[in-house]
Amino acid sequence: MRVLVTGGAGYIGSHTLLELMAQGHEVCVLDNYCNARPVVLDRVRNLSNRPVTAYTGDVRQATLLDQVMAEFAPEAVIHFAGLKAVGESMRDPLGYYDVNLGGTLALLHAMDRAGVRRIIFSSSATVYGDPEYLPYDEAHPTAPTSVYGRTKLAAETLLRDWHAAHPETCAVILRYFNPVGAHPSAQIGEDPSDTPNNLMPFIAQVAVGKRGALQIFGDDYDTPDGTGQRDYIHVVDLARAHVAALRYSAEHTGARAFNIGTGESYSVKQMVAAFQTASGQDIPCQITARRTGDIAAMQANASRANQELGWKATHSLADMTQSTWAWQSQNPDGYESD
Ligand code: NAD
Ligand code: UDP
Repeated sequence: MRVLVTGGAGYIGSHTLLELMAQGHEVCVLDNYCNARPVVLDRVRNLSNRPVTAYTGDVRQATLLDQVMAEFAPEAVIHFAGLKAVGESMRDPLGYYDVNLGGTLALLHAMDRAGVRRIIFSSSATVYGDPEYLPYDEAHPTAPTSVYGRTKLAAETLLRDWHAAHPETCAVILRYFNPVGAHPSAQIGEDPSDTPNNLMPFIAQVAVGKRGALQIFGDDYDTPDGTGQRDYIHVVDLARAHVAALRYSAEHTGARAFNIGTGESYSVKQMVAAFQTASGQDIPCQITARRTGDIAAMQANASRANQELGWKATHSLADMTQSTWAWQSQNPDGYESD
């Protein structure tokens, strides 16, 4: 299939490009590089030995979208482009709604003009909010606690309304749990432009000596060791979920959400221990106060994705930590290491 990938130069997008091409799909990227570097696509081209057409610009630009639709003529769109920092979203709600909701709106308009009927959307487990029960299934009530989460839920609603008005369309909403890890080549991985907000890239930067110690945000949660538990998913498994979703979108109409996680969860202390094993490095830690808005634990019930998408995570915690370490140690300054 010919697939337009918005935000394709980003962390999840770049891994997805490789999985798509490995399955014979033709890809085209639209990215404004606000949180990525063009060199990522050179590495993707080298690894795949395939051409990757790329347009530089904003997903909210209607004229650019029309140009891409006319020149590349996609049969489906995978929409990664968006802003994802929870703390920043609370300080800049308008900016977040503009990009995350406005970007999805502009894209759907352009898809309608071009007659493109399939979209795979990057949503997040954060749409669920405080757990009423765990593991979350897709029927769990949605009550996101951050602006970021509310922009994702608003975009989901938009996609459902779009589908309701156009029954021939398919919108696959993937609710990611906690993506971690890197490509086995160690050529692409997560490269935060600033201090990492997320646990795994922070641990990796401590291990490689870029940061002194990990702050553990609270050890008094109601979990076995007191630290927060999350469902970490290897980014290659996540990328493959998009390939499965694309296949699903070719065979179904509808607007349907799927949890994309492993169904397992690990605590902060377990992640630190696993990373120490993978890297052979000591990871100094300091226990600090809880981070505002954090919940104790979350984990996915991914059986809908297992059954309906025919997708299942296969990578272990060791795969996640080892691939992160390989990427971080071979690219200590991320893509700037070039
Ligand atoms: P990322 O920042 O690495 O990738 C996003 C890409 O979109 C970047 O290349 C960025 O330059 C591009 N972009 C941003 N705004 C744009 C705009 N207005 N126009 C064009 N391009 C734009 O993030 P990621 O981790 O790869 O996440 C991809 C998607 O998945 C995002 O929508 C994010 O909200 C969602 N998601 C991520 C996580 C996570 O923990 N990484 C979890 C759940 C959901
Ligand atoms: N965490 C931490 N120190 C950090 C970053 C994260 O202790 O520097 C904890 C956080 O409190 C949570 C877990 O690690 O329990 C995962 O956090 P992350 O931000 O990666 O994901 P999210 O909270 O969005 O699920």
